Amino acid sequence: MRVVFGFGTLAQLPDEADHLGVSRILVLTTPQQLEHGEQLRSILGTRVVGIYQGAMMHTPVAVTDDAMRVAGELKADCVLSVGGGSTTGLGKAIAYRTGLPQICVPTTYAGSEMTSILGQTEDGIKTTLRDPRVLPESVVYDVELTMSLPQSLSGTSGINALAHAVEALYAKNANPVLSLFAEEGMASLAKALPVIHHDAHNKVARYQALYGAWLCAICLGSGEVALHHKLCHVLGGSFDLPHAETHTIILPHVVAYNAPAIGNALQVIGRALACEDAAAALFDLAKSIGAKTALSDIGMPQDGIEKATEIALKNPYFNPRPLTREGICSLLTDAFHGRRPSVEDHR
Ligand code: NAD
Repeated sequence: MRVVFGFGTLAQLPDEADHLGVSRILVLTTPQQLEHGEQLRSILGTRVVGIYQGAMMHTPVAVTDDAMRVAGELKADCVLSVGGGSTTGLGKAIAYRTGLPQICVPTTYAGSEMTSILGQTEDGIKTTLRDPRVLPESVVYDVELTMSLPQSLSGTSGINALAHAVEALYAKNANPVLSLFAEEGMASLAKALPVIHHDAHNKVARYQALYGAWLCAICLGSGEVALHHKLCHVLGGSFDLPHAETHTIILPHVVAYNAPAIGNALQVIGRALACEDAAAALFDLAKSIGAKTALSDIGMPQDGIEKATEIALKNPYFNPRPLTREGICSLLTDAFHGRRPSVEDHR
């Protein structure tokens, strides 16, 4: 994978296309970011054969089918996704099926561009696979494109990135280099997000946030996930909850739940966030950027707690602290009501 990072890096897109030897690029985006798609067309000129603006959250298979049809009709030899995790997901799904090379221009902090993970939805069921074929050949991070990311999504998307770093610290395959990336990524985001909340156009903070998100994305790409990502997957898939906001609400509660088993990780989070109590600090960070802190505020039904507990316990997976029905149910109940957690809760 080649990575370009900085301000104004879109200007290097023609070089990236030349490096890949492609000349019939299909740009992927959402209706909300059509302007970004057009900006790329103006930079790449006749190398762009079309813009597909149908990307949607959770990569519905029907959308991938439709985009594949358009790519086929246009004889595209490359897909270029410009957008957040939803658009990146569409590019990955097409690459997985066709082997077409991908260029990715991420515009949120979700981090999908650095992972071989592809989540797809069909008939209301979301499944996830890991395959190296979905990794983009080229990633171009241009801080300028993140300036238009709405303040609310900037904050929750940034905490979504933080969650990748947190889980890498206690992953089954954790290692000291990933922990370094995680600490630096978390520290950079924790500094930048409150600034962005007050001043969305602050260039230094936007740079720090995208830099931190890149580091956290590498953590997700290399580290295995545990309770936090599994729970968010269950909640997003079962109740159609918004991705970044769900991560923001759940993360402090998972850190509190795992606290008795993750002493070293708590120290690293403590250094990165300059705090004593990692769970409370993550909750306070969410509050400070104006994010919602209760599942009840983002569309979760109260009787969903039972159902989510069932699904979360169905297929066993690694977590540093063993999962119990009572523990998961009380974690979700706290998150449902937006209670401020503490690392002392489960000691
Ligand atoms: P998103 O991609 O759904 O974007 C949300 C909205 O914000 C969209 O309308 C988008 O067009 C708009 N937007 C994005 N960037 C913008 C910008 N700079 N300016 C203006 N508008 C902008 O949101 P997301 O949180 O980035 O992605 C969520 C999806 O990504 C979920 O489906 C999730 O499962 C997936 N994801 C996958 C991975 C992975 O490794 N496979 C990792 C993280 C997230």
